[in-house]
Amino acid sequence: MECHSCGVCCKLFVINLNEEEYLSGKYKTIFAEFGMMDFNEAELTGAHLLAQNEDESCIYLQEGKCSIHNDRPLVCRDFFCDSDEPWFKSMIEKIRKFKVNLQQNL
Ligand code: SF4
Ligand code: SF4
Repeated sequence: MECHSCGVCCKLFVINLNEEEYLSGKYKTIFAEFGMMDFNEAELTGAHLLAQNEDESCIYLQEGKCSIHNDRPLVCRDFFCDSDEPWFKSMIEKIRKFKVNLQQNL
């Protein structure tokens, strides 16, 4: 599996941090202004989600590329849009439709 760093998945999906990533405090999260919570509370409220740009892409997507590539969250490392894992199926379909729409609008 290979990622070509096209950045499409970074525009379509909300990224959730695992406990270690959230508690590290090194990532920008959507409710950061309310301060750090314990992880259970963060999961319940969605505070463990990465912040987003105004267009709802990931906050770390800058000029079409991941600006924290070497330190990106585990879910980003685990996901490949050419995976045949069943649990990625709906995400991969969403990426496919996004790319088709993009081409149709060129
Ligand atoms: S996983 Fe796929 S959609 Fe996401 S950046 Fe890589 S090539 Fe693009
Ligand atoms: S952290 Fe990087 S790889 Fe993950 S969604 Fe954001 S921009 Fe994409």
